[in-house]
Amino acid sequence: MRLDVLFSNPTKGSAGKTGEWRVFRPVVDQSLCVLCMSCYDYCPENVVEVGDEVVIDYDYCKGCGICSRVCVTGAIRMERER
Ligand code: SF4
Ligand code: SF4
Repeated sequence: MRLDVLFSNPTKGSAGKTGEWRVFRPVVDQSLCVLCMSCYDYCPENVVEVGDEVVIDYDYCKGCGICSRVCVTGAIRMERER
């Protein structure tokens, strides 16, 4: 089975600097994070980095909220941009 057919390969910045028009931003409560990598796996923009903690590149995050929906501990909440 060809796995490259089943999975997309998102590229950071392929849609430009989406942070300029984002309406909601994901905010991570690091104290709730268990470093499960789900947000990294599901982010369609490839803008989540998981090391000692989760870091989101707000220049390119489009605020879709998928990371928040898949987070197993509810560590990511979506906040409206001001
Ligand atoms: S809201 Fe979350 S899933 Fe969506 S682009 Fe931003 S970091 Fe990725
Ligand atoms: S999905 Fe939630 S618990 Fe998992 S690494 Fe991301 S922020 Fe942490």
